[in-house]
Amino acid sequence: MKTGRDNATSQKFPVSVLAATGSVGQRFVQLLDNHPWFEVSTLTGSDRSVGRPYSEACHWVLPGPMPAWARQMILAPTLPEAVTAPIAFSALPADLAGEIEPRFARSGVVVCSNASALRREPDVPILLPEVNADHVRLVERQRRERGWTGCIVTNPNCTSTGLTVALKALQNAFGLRRAIVVSMQAISGAGYPGVASLDILDNVIPNVDGEEDKVEWEPRKMLGEIRADELHPAELLISAHTNRVAVSDGHLVCVSVELETPGGVEEAGRVLRAYQAPQISRQLPSAPHPVILLRDEQDRPQPRLDRQTGRGMTTVVGRLRADPIFHLKFVVLSHNTIRGAAGGSIYNAELLMQMGLMEKV
Ligand code: NAP
Repeated sequence: MKTGRDNATSQKFPVSVLAATGSVGQRFVQLLDNHPWFEVSTLTGSDRSVGRPYSEACHWVLPGPMPAWARQMILAPTLPEAVTAPIAFSALPADLAGEIEPRFARSGVVVCSNASALRREPDVPILLPEVNADHVRLVERQRRERGWTGCIVTNPNCTSTGLTVALKALQNAFGLRRAIVVSMQAISGAGYPGVASLDILDNVIPNVDGEEDKVEWEPRKMLGEIRADELHPAELLISAHTNRVAVSDGHLVCVSVELETPGGVEEAGRVLRAYQAPQISRQLPSAPHPVILLRDEQDRPQPRLDRQTGRGMTTVVGRLRADPIFHLKFVVLSHNTIRGAAGGSIYNAELLMQMGLMEKV
C-alpha cells in the first residue's frame, strides 16, 4: 500500500456523516469541526429530517454550541446518489446499515461505520488503529471479492473498545487465556432519547440488548491474526455481563484476566504504561496521547472525572491488582461516543488516508 499522507496538502478531504442527528452523529459533527484533514460536505438523516436545516432537525445535546457551518446545512437523504464525498462516516442504526452501507461502498465510497451489522463479515475489519492497524489488509480482499471500489471498515461496539486496548497491551507481554468482564455503560450508549428517565434514574438495568455477544466476540477478532488473507480470532475466552447505569457518558468495565504466562501486578503496570500504538497510527490527528493512562488512586477511573482524558480518546485503566481466581483484575474507562464511536471512526479514516486507500477511490 502506498503512503498517502506523507505531505499533507492544504486542501481538505470532503466527508459526509450518515445519520448525523443522533447521539453518534452529533459527536461526528462536533469532532469534525476544524478537523485538519476532513471537511463535512453532506449531512444525512431519515425521511423525518431530509430537507430541513440541521439546526431544526437535530436536538443538540452536547456541551458547546452546534458548529456554525452545520446549522444551516440541509439534511440530504441517505442515498449514494445524494452524497458526493468519497468518505462517509456512518452512524446508522444496525438494521439499516447492513443494507445501506454496502450501496455506498459499491458506488466507490469509503465507509467508516459505527454499526454492528457487518462486523462479523470475514473481510470487514473491526479497527482500532492503536491495536490492529494491520487488519486494514482485509480491505484488499473485500474489494477484490465484492468488486467494490469503496470499502467498509467498522469500529467495535463502545464497550469492547477500551477493553480491547488494555487487553492488547497484556496480550503482547503475557498472552491471554480467559477474561470475565462486567460493564457499567452510560446512557448515551443507547442513542437519543435512549433509555426512559423513569427506567434509569435511581437504577441499574442488568442488561444491554445484544451487547454481551459483541463483547465476548469482537475483542477476539481485533486481537486475532491475519494469515494468508484469513483472519484468525484470538483463542481468548471472554464471559461478559453488561449493565446500563445512570451516567451520561463513559463506559466502565471491570476485568479479571487469566494470562498465558503469569506476570505480576508491577510488571503489568509497566506494560500498560509503556503501551504504544503501531508506528503508522501514532501521529494521526485523532491518536490518543497517551494510548493508556494507568491511574494509581484507589477510586479512579471515574466516568465524570476521567472520560475526557486525551480529548476522550485515551483508555484509562485503574485499580490494577492481583486476582485470587485469575491473575490480574482492573477497571477500564473509555468515552463511548468519542473513542467508542465517532472519534474512533475518524481515527480509522485517518489511518486509511495514511495508508493511501483513498487514492484508489
Ligand atoms: P440514535 O441517537 O438513535 O440516532 C439514530 C440516527 O439514525 C438518527 O440520526 C436518525 O436520523 C438516523 N436514522 C434513523 N432511521 C433512518 C433512516 N431510515 N435513514 C437514515 N437515517 C436514519 O443512535 P446512535 O446512538 O447515534 O447510534 C448510531 C449507530 O452507532 C448505531 O448503529 C449504534 O449501535 C452505533 N453506536 C453507538 C454508540 C453510542 O455510544 N451511542 C457507540 C458505538 C456505536 P433522524 O433523526 O433523521 O431520524
